Amino acid sequence: APSPLAPGLLAPGLLAPGLLVLLVFAKEDSQNNGFCWACEKANFRCNVARTPEAALECFKEKHHDLVIIDHRHSRYFDAESLCREVLLIHFYLNGFVDLFGVCCCRPDREEASVMPLIKSGFNRRYVENANMMACYNELLQLERGEVLAQFKLRACNAIFTALEQSQEAIEITNEDQVIQYVNPAYESIMGYQQGELIGKEITEVPKSEKNKPDLLETINSCIRKGKEWQGIYYAKKKNGDSVQQNVKITPVIGQGGKHKDRRKGSLDVRSTTSRGSDGSSQRRHSSMARIHSMTIEAPITKVINIINAAQESSPMPVAEALDRVLEILRTTELYSPQLGTKEEDPHTNDLVGGLMTDGLRRLSGNEYIFAPHLPSHLAMPLSLNDIPPHVAQTMENEDSWDFDIFNLETACLKRPLTYLGLKIFSRFGVCEFLSCPEATLRSWLQGIEANYHSTNSYHNSSHAADVLHATAYFLCKERVKQSLEQIDEVAALIAATVHDVDHPGRTNSFLCNAGSELAILYNDTAVLESHHAALAFQITTRDDKCNIFRNMERNEYRTLRQAIIDMVLATEMTKHFEHVNKFVNSINKPLAALEENGSVKGILTSPDNRILVKRMLIKCADISNPCRPLELCIEWAGRISEEYFAQTDEEKRQSLPVVMPVFDRNTCSIPKSQISFIDYFITDMFDAWDAFADLPNLMQHLDNNFKYWKGLDERKLHSLRPPPE
Ligand code: AMP
Ligand code: ZN
Repeated sequence: APSPLAPGLLAPGLLAPGLLVLLVFAKEDSQNNGFCWACEKANFRCNVARTPEAALECFKEKHHDLVIIDHRHSRYFDAESLCREVLLIHFYLNGFVDLFGVCCCRPDREEASVMPLIKSGFNRRYVENANMMACYNELLQLERGEVLAQFKLRACNAIFTALEQSQEAIEITNEDQVIQYVNPAYESIMGYQQGELIGKEITEVPKSEKNKPDLLETINSCIRKGKEWQGIYYAKKKNGDSVQQNVKITPVIGQGGKHKDRRKGSLDVRSTTSRGSDGSSQRRHSSMARIHSMTIEAPITKVINIINAAQESSPMPVAEALDRVLEILRTTELYSPQLGTKEEDPHTNDLVGGLMTDGLRRLSGNEYIFAPHLPSHLAMPLSLNDIPPHVAQTMENEDSWDFDIFNLETACLKRPLTYLGLKIFSRFGVCEFLSCPEATLRSWLQGIEANYHSTNSYHNSSHAADVLHATAYFLCKERVKQSLEQIDEVAALIAATVHDVDHPGRTNSFLCNAGSELAILYNDTAVLESHHAALAFQITTRDDKCNIFRNMERNEYRTLRQAIIDMVLATEMTKHFEHVNKFVNSINKPLAALEENGSVKGILTSPDNRILVKRMLIKCADISNPCRPLELCIEWAGRISEEYFAQTDEEKRQSLPVVMPVFDRNTCSIPKSQISFIDYFITDMFDAWDAFADLPNLMQHLDNNFKYWKGLDERKLHSLRPPPE
């Protein structure tokens, strides 16, 4: 067996003690004896085999360091094939072919070619010479040459096996900083495969920007002086994450020049145990190790890291462009379009200011009183069968986009939500899904509708009924059906119904500026939307009579509740561009890329994407009025303008900041405001929604309506309609 791996074994000049030699000689003769005596003189142990079979048997058992095969008499055995077999066994025993002392003894002349012998695997030729000193010299040369080299290789093999098993990440470079080796721990910690790194200069591997800029220079100057460096270093994983590590870099000086051996690992366990005699430093050490191994990084950090890495190998103009990208990414408002400071259009400015900010300036007074209504007509039973015929008639085409909600509003004395709700919820089997009696649904719809303010010109229950109608219409589109499950449909219908409940007819900015109770309750953040969602669940659950969720299984209720809340909050306009952009990036773009081979199911039905579809669906339903037939579109524009005017009136009355000065009833151009609203919020969103759900009729109406407003604006008209001829 090979000698133990003492470090000295690798140092030149030290003999490996007790070599074991196998002599394969068919007959005992002077040559055979010469080698036997030489072994004795050199203190090597020696076995003699007379046949190839005996030789292989013996070699298998003892695995000699050196085999000398008699090659003088081909009539006894074939020395070359025996050599090959010995090497084969050697290979199986060692797992890899290394240098191995196989010598043959030949009577040839010195000048004959050694090539056939080399091909058989012999690594030395000994020309017949029975002189004991000649044999002894040969053995010594073999020992210092092939056998020592073989020991070194075995030692290396053992060391590499240890490196491969080590839990610490280890990287070895040559003196030119070209990576020679990384171990599996390195691969798994850093996320690279060996093949991606070996042969690369370490400067080509992305660095973390978290290290102090002068750290690499410090390390290099230390290594150049032949000194070891140890310290905390941020390494960059392949996925862009930075990991903090305790790193030791050791220059290796010796044969082959200077080498750098860089060890990376979360912590050096051996030094921990040797130092931690009192136990406390050991605990500190292991909690430090845990802290170091934690990599809590936000996705945006990963993106920034990836770009940083790409910058290092990019030409100057690209790197500079990426600098600008990084600047943008480091800001928080990624999805909000930035209006130029000298934005020309005051309508867009006011809409953006009014809808997309929470108006952080808060003034005192004008407290908003939160007082949920209790419907006085709850006692009046109402069922699908009870719907008066003239009301039922106005709902006959409720599954068409051109359905006229205002006819229904008039016919049912401004309670369209309850009637339309009953019809649409029954069409979608909502009661069956919720295991809820129709009477409960009826009470619920009445309870919700009662909490819409009929005094608001826009945000009343007709708007909720309109959004419910659009939601139901979108839910019937093929792509939407492919994407959503029944629980999503039910959530969408309920969310649409409740999404503006108890809307005070004022914007979030107004409520924040006025320091209203709601703004204080919700910290000026998504004030109205939070209130709509919270109140909807209060109304629903405070009275069993109208609790449509009462018979649901707990987990299913939680899922449904979560989906409803998410959709109601998605109607908040400060997040408009975030929702639209996420939809485009995660759904429109991947779908367009996959259009050819048609395997779109995964994109449509992934849980994350279903959330994006539902958000987009309710957002589009909520502000679909510019896509309604012209007459309906004009009516909605009139109503929202009136509500904004009323707000401006009140702001002026109460000396509050005027959030949207263009919505002043004395000066406002309604066509201009609609053009801006469509340009800024509607066009892109409906392009994306149409690309997904296929809505050519809506796009046609949008186009017509836009042209209508443009026509009025070109005639410098400010009104909803042209004056009569
Ligand atoms: P919601 O309050 O949930 O109805 O959110 C929709 C937002 O879009 C509201 O703040 C409305 O004031 C606004 N909006 C809807 N339709 C129009 C329109 N035609 N013109 C201007 N703003 C609108
Ligand atoms: Zn709404």
